[in-house]
Amino acid sequence: MTKQKTVWQNPAEIIRETRPENPVMVFAPTVLQDTAKRFLKGFPGLVTYAVKSNPDEAVVENLASAGIKGFDVASPAEIELIGRLVPGAARHYHNPVRSRAEIKAAVDAGIKAWSVDSASELEKLIELVPAEDCEISPRFKLPVTGAIYDFGSKFGATPELAADLLKRVAEAGFIPSLTFHPGTQCTDPGAWEQYIRTARDICDSAGVRAKRLNVGGGFPSYRVHGVEPQLEDIFDLIGATATEVFGDDAPALVCEPGRGLCADAFSLITRVKAVRDGQAVFLNDGVYGGLAELPVVGNLDRVQVFTPDGQQRGGEDAGRVIFGPTCDSVDRLPGELLMASDVQEGDYIVFSGAGAYSVVTNTRFNGFGEMTRATALRLD
Ligand SMILES: *Cc1c(COP(=O)(O)O)cnc(C)c1O
Repeated sequence: MTKQKTVWQNPAEIIRETRPENPVMVFAPTVLQDTAKRFLKGFPGLVTYAVKSNPDEAVVENLASAGIKGFDVASPAEIELIGRLVPGAARHYHNPVRSRAEIKAAVDAGIKAWSVDSASELEKLIELVPAEDCEISPRFKLPVTGAIYDFGSKFGATPELAADLLKRVAEAGFIPSLTFHPGTQCTDPGAWEQYIRTARDICDSAGVRAKRLNVGGGFPSYRVHGVEPQLEDIFDLIGATATEVFGDDAPALVCEPGRGLCADAFSLITRVKAVRDGQAVFLNDGVYGGLAELPVVGNLDRVQVFTPDGQQRGGEDAGRVIFGPTCDSVDRLPGELLMASDVQEGDYIVFSGAGAYSVVTNTRFNGFGEMTRATALRLD
């Protein structure tokens, strides 16, 4: 269907003119570029993109043309992707656990920045990676709140262990830096402040000056009505805290947003297959498709209902249970979703802010999951 036109006005036009049967992921490159420029203007350091959140080649290329010069990569495939699409860009291999084969592949590809959160993985790096001009960043964690989903349950050393690792990194002749991730969709700027203060303590107890401090991803996108991301507040607090606690000796700052860069540049068009006895709404997409992360991080509640003619439904909002197309009972969105109460079979439900952890986690379970891509000038 996208063959008919290369660039659409907006999702409503796609619905009206093509009445898609399969889910359509609609990308607005101008929105992505504007968000990238907002980060580049406001963040007081190097902005890198966490490729895992959406590795679509068009996303990577648009970010590069907006001026993004670094990427957080987590696997040999992501390293290859960025090497091919943006030759010369910085690639930070910030997956703290890797096999020996992956480490060797990354060394061969010229990777010069790594993160670790354990003594055993650090010894593996020291053994396999030449130290010259090479940075290793211990990743630490705190029991802080503010994010929707705690990354600390999988990765991150305690501050005490991070200090030991930082010391060992410096002794082994690598460039010592530090990194953390406050948790995804973190709407509380205070989380970054606590982490930066702790970074100073870690440097003090290790007796090592960190060359760079990577403040992670976690920057929020616009997922829920009334909770618009306050990116500039976060940028400002990061800069002010780093200056306050490190003074003239402040490490260079780096950030690695995924969601905060890509999510709001996409809307997902889904179709209503049925409204079962006037109650539950069955969609052609669900948790095994483009809505995979909703059970974990909560609903994307910025939804609009359109008729097949592309007209927005105007009924009062009412809560609906939403099921996906597969026969697995897990395939349902959390709780109820508020939407126009006059929603009908054959209508379209458009989810805004759907670009992160969606295209890339879409599966073909139960024979569903065929997702079309389209490009639009706007998403409203
Ligand atoms: C996933 C990930 C990110 C991006 O996280 P967002 O919450 O999407 O910004 C950044 N850094 C690392 C190391 C990650 O694993």
